[in-house]
Amino acid sequence: MHELKIAEELSAIVTATAENAGLKKVDRVNICFGQFVQIVPAIFEAAFREAVRESVAEKAALSIEIIPAELRCQSCGSLFIPDDNRNGCRTCGSQEINVVHGKELFIKSIEGD
Ligand SMILES: [Zn+2]
Repeated sequence: MHELKIAEELSAIVTATAENAGLKKVDRVNICFGQFVQIVPAIFEAAFREAVRESVAEKAALSIEIIPAELRCQSCGSLFIPDDNRNGCRTCGSQEINVVHGKELFIKSIEGD
């Protein structure tokens, strides 16, 4: 249930950003999650609703974008999409793998006035 903790942290960022920008209310919050963050959008949204209650973002619509995972082999440099059944590089079999995309967790934008 890490959604609750993430929702609390992101809602704090949203309200602080809105205050700094002088927003009276936040209409929309666009959030990006990498696939590896393994967020359940419905659970996250419920947790976020709770976290923004009685704040400037209370009525904000939430838009969640999931960024697909992508890995890069350190040995041969090939890029590939992970699959659950195999570890290592698709091309050379190396286990030295970097995560290029999939661990993102950030607020893309906040809309309001
Ligand atoms: Zn490789």
